[in-house]
Parts: sequence; C-alpha cells; structure tokens
Amino acid sequence: MYRKVAWEGYREEETARLEAFAADYRRFLDEGKTERECTAYAEALAKEKGFKNLEDVVKSGEKLKSGDRVYATWMGKDIMTFVVGSRPLEEGMSILGAHIDSPRMDVKQNPLYEEEGIAYLDTHYYGGIKKYQWVAIPLALHGVVVKKDGSKVTWTIGEKDSDPVFYVSDLLIHLSQEQLTKQAKDVIEGEALNLIVGSRPLVFGEDDKADKKDPVKQAVLQLLREQYGIEEEDFISAELEVVPAGKSRETGFDRSMIIGYGHDDRVCAYPSLMAVLNYEGTPEKTLCAILTDKEEIGSVGATGMNSHFFENVVAELLDACGQYSDLTLRRMLRNSRMLSSDVAAGFDPNFASVFEKKNAALVGHGVCFSKFTGSRGKSGSNDANAEYVAEIRRIMDDNEVDFQTAELGKVDVGGGGTIAYMCSKYGMNVIDAGIAVLSMHAPFELISKADLWEAYKCYAVFLKDA
Ligand code: MN
Ligand code: MN
Repeated sequence: MYRKVAWEGYREEETARLEAFAADYRRFLDEGKTERECTAYAEALAKEKGFKNLEDVVKSGEKLKSGDRVYATWMGKDIMTFVVGSRPLEEGMSILGAHIDSPRMDVKQNPLYEEEGIAYLDTHYYGGIKKYQWVAIPLALHGVVVKKDGSKVTWTIGEKDSDPVFYVSDLLIHLSQEQLTKQAKDVIEGEALNLIVGSRPLVFGEDDKADKKDPVKQAVLQLLREQYGIEEEDFISAELEVVPAGKSRETGFDRSMIIGYGHDDRVCAYPSLMAVLNYEGTPEKTLCAILTDKEEIGSVGATGMNSHFFENVVAELLDACGQYSDLTLRRMLRNSRMLSSDVAAGFDPNFASVFEKKNAALVGHGVCFSKFTGSRGKSGSNDANAEYVAEIRRIMDDNEVDFQTAELGKVDVGGGGTIAYMCSKYGMNVIDAGIAVLSMHAPFELISKADLWEAYKCYAVFLKDA
C-alpha cells in the first residue's frame, strides 16, 4: 500500500499554517515540561477562548445549553475541555485523549545530602528511561513544594539563560573500561541518578559553635530558606521533576522537524486540545479533549486514566445540562467515539531490524493509526473494531488527511500500551491515532512538523464528522 509523504501535498498557504501551528506547539512544549505546567497552560488557553470552569458552573447552578464551552481540571494534573452539542448527550461524545506526563527523574522525599564537598538531590526515575541518556546533560528542576500550612512554592529553575542548571555526572572514558563492558541497562543504575546541586560550603568563624558537618549541604539549605522559604523537611511534600533544560529546536537544514523534551505525548495533547478549542459553532455531538496524567507509569493513581475522574466530570456535565441519570451516563460513554492519541514508534533506518517496514510509522507520512497496541499476542491491547476503523478511514480520505497505519515494532520484539484500553472499558469505540517519534523517551525526541500538522487536521475533522 502506497502512502505519500505529507509534505508533497502542501501549497504555500498550507505551509504557512503548518509553520504557525508548529511554532505555537513549541511554545506549549517549552512552557509545559510537567503535567501541572501543561494543565495550567491549557487552562489559560481555554479561558482565552471563552471556556468556563465547570466547577463554577456547578456552584452557580447555571444550566448549560448546546454551544456552551466548559473545562474541568483534576488535581492540577488533568484537564478536560468540552463543547456541548445540539444532540442529546446520551448519543455520545467525540473524544480526543492524550497524556501530558513524560518520562523524567523525580526528586526523592528525603533527597539532600553531601559527599566529599558536593551536594546532591537523590532522584527516582519516572517511566521507562534509558538511564545512561540522562547523565552529562543540563537539567532543570520543575515542580511544587507544598508547605505544612498549604502554601505552595512553584519552581522552574534551569530554563532562563540567567538560571543555573543541574547535572548528573557520568564516569570519564579513561576509567570506563569495566563500565563499558556492562549491559546498557546497568551502565548507569537507578540509584546513581544523583543530581549535583551545589559545591560551595558555608564558611564558619573559628569560634562559631554551629554544627560544622556537611557545610555544602548547609549552604544549599540556607539558600533554599532565603530564596524560597523552604526547609529540608518540606521536601517530604514536594513534587519536583528533573527534566532536560532548554527549549525545543527546529531540526535539519530544511527545519522540517522538531527535537524537544516530552513530545511523548504533548505532540498529541496539544493538537487534541486545540482541535476542541478552535472548533467553531455548535457541533451536533458533544466534543471533548482529555489531557491526562500518569500514562507513563500505567495510568494508575487518582490522576491516571484508570481513575474515575473522567467519568465523574462527565456526570457533572450531564447534570449541568439537566440530563443526568446513571443510565444516561452509561449510554453517553458507550456511544462515544474516541481517538486515543499517543506517539508511535517512528521507523528509524539506524535500527531497521526491530521494525517490520510496511507496518511501521514513517516520519513525515502523516498521522498514524494503530488498530491495536500491546505486546506479543496483542496482550493488553484495545483492538479497535473494523467497522470503526472503516469509518475513520472514510473521514480521513473525505477530508484529505494523510494517514498511515502501524504497529509498535516487529511482532515479539517489544510493545507498549496507551490509554485506549481504559476508555474502551465503557464499550466505546476507540482507536490509537498518534505521531511518529524517533528516540522516544530520550531527553530530546524527534518529530516531523508535517505529522504534527496532519494530526491536528485529523483531530479537527474527527470532531466535525465522526
Ligand atoms: Mn505516550
Ligand atoms: Mn511513553
């Protein structure tokens, strides 16, 4: 089956729109390096577009009608946006879903220590990473420290040119003879991901009665106290994420690609969000975009797709539309259709042997549908219904969206999952629809601008026609 390169089809006017969209996406990527930051950024965009907070609507007792636009957040880590349709809600929604958490290192709850004149923060990695990729690069600290009185200190340190960055050291090549014989997974061990955060000691006077142990750690604590009002104990209730420092960059002589941290899965989350925010007029079916947390660790926890937060918000929406009953809720979810949007493993000619080429996602060949994900014998996958796949094909072809289909590598080689199977538990039709990424889960991942653009077009026409 022939699939054309998406770039071939663009005229000047479309290229300009593609470039503008890519620039806006890069801003989202650079401002949103954590799930909390992505949620805040998305909330601000939604407000700008006139979306009201569903919580305020519920509190005021206001009734929603078709054409109304609302959003809901959950714990500051998930955000859902809705456009209420003209048809009864029980007929189902058109849903776009993606995740906004990305692999990284989290600061431990008792992290700060000093060894031989260097102060460190101990970390615990989050999601699947090749640990050796996260050493010897500039790193930034993003997150929150919540104090006992509930007040919150928000950190973004390492992004401005004037900011310091942080660093995990690697062994010098001259002494690496033994290290280099290890299996790649053992080259850097999880417990060795220790973040260097200081080396200048507190200087004590000779008669100073103070405890002179760990003077570098003490100096770091003094800085934290002075600059942020944080005590060592406050790390207990902190969520600090260590991410690659610096912005995304256009890539290649032709600037056709973007490298950046967290394309997985913000490259699907942003166009999903924008497809709903940019929808004009009143749709027949209710539209929804879900940006969710915790996908990288199995969608568990109160903010993961396995939680009931989405169902709870949909129940509130039904109620605010004056249409709630348990049965209506079930019908509404069952009758919904969804594009579960997550990145696909882009075919990498450098590592061709793990792919089956005619069923691989090719960079620049458009949005990528995966009928199923999972591993080995489709284990753990949501296998989309052929009837639904046919309808999606028709919508894409009618609207001239470039798409391809793919599996995650060769059968028996690997595998992975997305949020699709959790939404399919309601009985709704779900298919994976994402973007090819090279070096997935590396500190900097690569995507094609054309694929980003085709994904946005795909999500927009899905909302219009599905
Ligand atoms: Mn993903
Ligand atoms: Mn991932």
